[in-house]
Amino acid sequence: MTLTRIAWLSVIIATGISVIAIVGWASNWLIVAQISPQFIPMPPSTALMFLLLCASWFAYYDKPSSPPRRMLAEACALIVLVFCLIVLIEFLTGIPLDIEQLFLRTASRFGSVPIGGMSPITAAGLVLAGASLVISSSASGDRRRQLAAILALLAASIGFVIILGYLFGAPLLYGSSIIPVALTTAIALDLLGMGVCASAGPTCWPIRIVIGPSLNAQLLRGFLPLTIAIVLFLGWFYVVGVSWIGNPALTASLALFLALITVITIASRTARRVGEEIDQTHDALRESEEKFRRIAGNTIDNIFELDLDGTIRYDSPASERIFGYKPEEVTGRSAEFLFSDSELPKLYDSLAVIANGKNVERLETEMLRKDGSQILVEINASPILREERIVGALGFLRDITERRRAESALRESEVRYRTLFDSTNDAIFIHDMGRKFLEVNRVLCELTGHSREELLQMMPTDINSPEYARLLPDRITQLRRVGHAFFEAAFVRRDGTVAPIELSSRIIEYKGKPAVLAVARDITERKQMERMKDQFVSTVSHELRTPLTSIRASLGLLASGVSGTLPEKGQRMLEIAVTNTDRLVRLINDILDSERLASGKTPMEKKTCNAGQLVTQAADVMKPLTEKAGISLSVESQDAALWADPDRIAQALTNLVGNAIKFSPKGGRIWVTAERKENQMVFKVRDEGRGIPPDKLGLLFERFQQVDASDAREKGGTGLGLSISRSIVEQHNGRIWVESTVGKGSTFFFTVPLLPEAQAPLQPEATTGAPSTRKVLIIEDDPDLANILAAMLERHNIQSHIVLTGGKGIALSKQMHPDLIVLDLILPDMDGSIVVEDLRKDNILRSVPLVVYTVRELDEQQRENLRLGETLFFTKSRIPPEQFEEKVVQFMERIFEDGGSTGVN
Ligand code: ADP
Repeated sequence: MTLTRIAWLSVIIATGISVIAIVGWASNWLIVAQISPQFIPMPPSTALMFLLLCASWFAYYDKPSSPPRRMLAEACALIVLVFCLIVLIEFLTGIPLDIEQLFLRTASRFGSVPIGGMSPITAAGLVLAGASLVISSSASGDRRRQLAAILALLAASIGFVIILGYLFGAPLLYGSSIIPVALTTAIALDLLGMGVCASAGPTCWPIRIVIGPSLNAQLLRGFLPLTIAIVLFLGWFYVVGVSWIGNPALTASLALFLALITVITIASRTARRVGEEIDQTHDALRESEEKFRRIAGNTIDNIFELDLDGTIRYDSPASERIFGYKPEEVTGRSAEFLFSDSELPKLYDSLAVIANGKNVERLETEMLRKDGSQILVEINASPILREERIVGALGFLRDITERRRAESALRESEVRYRTLFDSTNDAIFIHDMGRKFLEVNRVLCELTGHSREELLQMMPTDINSPEYARLLPDRITQLRRVGHAFFEAAFVRRDGTVAPIELSSRIIEYKGKPAVLAVARDITERKQMERMKDQFVSTVSHELRTPLTSIRASLGLLASGVSGTLPEKGQRMLEIAVTNTDRLVRLINDILDSERLASGKTPMEKKTCNAGQLVTQAADVMKPLTEKAGISLSVESQDAALWADPDRIAQALTNLVGNAIKFSPKGGRIWVTAERKENQMVFKVRDEGRGIPPDKLGLLFERFQQVDASDAREKGGTGLGLSISRSIVEQHNGRIWVESTVGKGSTFFFTVPLLPEAQAPLQPEATTGAPSTRKVLIIEDDPDLANILAAMLERHNIQSHIVLTGGKGIALSKQMHPDLIVLDLILPDMDGSIVVEDLRKDNILRSVPLVVYTVRELDEQQRENLRLGETLFFTKSRIPPEQFEEKVVQFMERIFEDGGSTGVN
């Protein structure tokens, strides 16, 4: 039965007894008095006081935290206290205070029931019980509860003594000499006292010693009821026995004998039970000790027990590994010898902490091993309690020397890596696959103008220029596939300027996850140098173009026999000169083309053209070469409309076919095909030549890249063809690539988007006409070239006049009104455009046909500014003099048959 239940039951019974007493008085029905005339009934004042005390207990005990209830409980108990104190004072002093007259008078109205007063013994018991309730309801705290419990216990004891008086017929005990206490009052007082005491809780002193787990409490629990029972029995036996046996001495002896037998029997049973329990406890203790030893023996940590003065009481076997001492070597000694002088305060401080009942947590200290070396350890310890007193410390000790060493090595390597990371001249960064920066170095911050903190919140796409940011997902995919990548890109700085960079990335593992480590090098200066070099090459090439054009034209004329037939040797040398001049012209053209295409200066003149025709044309152009090289050329193409610059696409195709011829063996085959694939045309040039090694495949489309350094010399290449082709294809939004197997051949592919039907413009057709004799004015500062042109035109009965300056050109034009003007733009006295501007002011000359023949590549706007009548634009070196001759003659034939019109080149 729990304490709570005991409390409730006792108080409820006490309440019941009081209620019956009051009802009995009221109804003149006194049960107890009827049992024996000796038994007096409980007076109504006493019953009422009991009811008030019970009410106080119920009010408080059920909800101790509610203030109104506590107040009620306190008030009830106080009334009882005051009332009973007055009764006691009245009894002790003899002063008639007559407080009970209140009740007596009232109760007497209920008939002839004899009315008794409250005994001072009862009053004393009730004062104790009332005080106990006042204390417990008015305040909390362990000491007060203890006091309340003791007072309640005293009240119960008074009740018990009175019961003994009734039991053994000793009227003195129940106060017959003064005012006797009713048996029911004694029982109610006993129960109420026990109830209030039990409600003080298991931790309260009088209760604790009875219900606790200690051997004391166990014995008390066994012997207290026994003692009470024996006392009651002995008393009863003696009273009854004396009247029955007649001899008090014999009765007493018998009673004592019986009591001893009972005590011995019960004591031996109790001893056996307690013994068994002790044995069980021992077993459990041994088992738990064994478990502890096994754990202590197997842990890496050292487990120890210290007294509060630092004496080692226990040390686990790990001690030998950690300190070099066997446990028995250290047990019983003070732990001080394991500490150096400088570390000893830590031992004392920790012991003080333990003595204060606190734990020592993660204490790091240096300790001494048996061999004198030092180790770093981490200690955790907590107090050992014995009978509520702290007697020592139980702790765990871990050797962390190695861990610390590894940590500091890691820190050092981290510092080294950081220093390296930050002191290189390259920008280094790591980003995850979700493309968030994880690490960036100082150089990246300087290069981009962002702080480290800013960059760590950003993504690589945020600092890449948009065209490179778009390529990033593809590059990551490539990186995942191959593991590394090397490419050019550009960073946009914080101020909006762009820094070209060269980027080398590879996949690494960073904090257990795949990430990209990238090293970026600022190549602004290199790019500037490249630009300067390109400009230089381009300027030189420009300057070379004019004299070369003259040389080539003169050689051409010589070769055609214009100045008589040369001897065979001379003819051969002339052919060599022609071939090499052609090669030189090709190189210069390629350099200029490449430079212009790369810088976007060459506009693509896109129009509707037929893919099939382009392939056929390219094949036709290349046929003589294939025949010469003994190579068969197969052509297969689908017709499809493209929106492209036909000359440029043809240029790309002839480049590829030219290469295929160059690198095919005699008797080899070449296939040129064009087929639709989705919304684009795929052009393919396949050969069975020597093939290209895999490591060169990616580089070939860069300028001056050749598989073999001797290719330029032996095959007559410039190393620019593929780069030009790539620029052309890319400016058509296409893609170019190569697949090749060494020794088996190569296939070059490029794509050009197909023309959406709606975009197709109408295309004018060209016409030809019959030749006629006309006058031409040639305004050209290079007399050689001017003479060659004149000589060519003369062959067609065209009369030419040559002037070497712009001024003379304007004057002569106005004077002779030529049928056609051939104009160079770079003139010693003025730019050709000024000549045009001047001639436009003349009514007749503003519509004279014009051929602009210049080294400059002109854009649409520039051309517009140079038009007179129908105007043609020829770029020197792109249109060599022979072609110039042919085209000019055709042009004149057409114009003079048409009668003149606006010209389109
Ligand atoms: P080149 O004027 O030297 O041909 P390209 O840019 O057209 O310049 O080609 C670059 C290099 O690529 C060539 O020098 C050659 O080494 C290689 N190459 C191009 N096409 C082929 C091919 N069909 N077969 C083998 N190698 C080729």
